[in-house]
Amino acid sequence: MQNSDDIDEFLHSDDEEHLPRPENTVPERMDTDVANPASPDEPAEGPCWLCTFHGNKSTEDAVRFIIDSVSHISLDSLVHELSTCLSIKHPEALALLTKEKVKRHIREHMLHPRVKMAIQVHDLSTLQKNLIQCCVTEDPDTQSRAVNIQATRAYLSVANQIAALYKNTEDKMLFNAVTMNK
Ligand SMILES: [Zn+2]
Repeated sequence: MQNSDDIDEFLHSDDEEHLPRPENTVPERMDTDVANPASPDEPAEGPCWLCTFHGNKSTEDAVRFIIDSVSHISLDSLVHELSTCLSIKHPEALALLTKEKVKRHIREHMLHPRVKMAIQVHDLSTLQKNLIQCCVTEDPDTQSRAVNIQATRAYLSVANQIAALYKNTEDKMLFNAVTMNK
């Protein structure tokens, strides 16, 4: 879903596999939980729509979009686009398709290596950006500058971790494109 035509197709596709409303399709164990996210068996934030309906046309399209896009755009942009598209397509599940819930699914529930690796690189890059601010300190009185050895070591360690992630080959991972058929 890299261009407007794809997004339009995603939004307006209405084939045989179009998702029925959740109340008609939820598994038995979920039949009350979806209607009542406050059920004691579910986390306070409610069930995950993308997990609940995994395997349906909309969730399959969403998974494909996440895997194809996660290494090309920011996670926030991805979440915004996906949450918006799914909310338009499934207004009946609006409360379960917030950016926070979609983001939690991508960050915490998905195990696809491309997604996991991309999130780790994003997180380490953010840490790296913060650390570099601490590597050189300046005395407010004398304006003399000094290298903060501890911060510099941490920065280099994070840089090494990022480099190590880039050396990972997906085919050697437990979850990969072959084992996950994606
Ligand atoms: Zn989920």
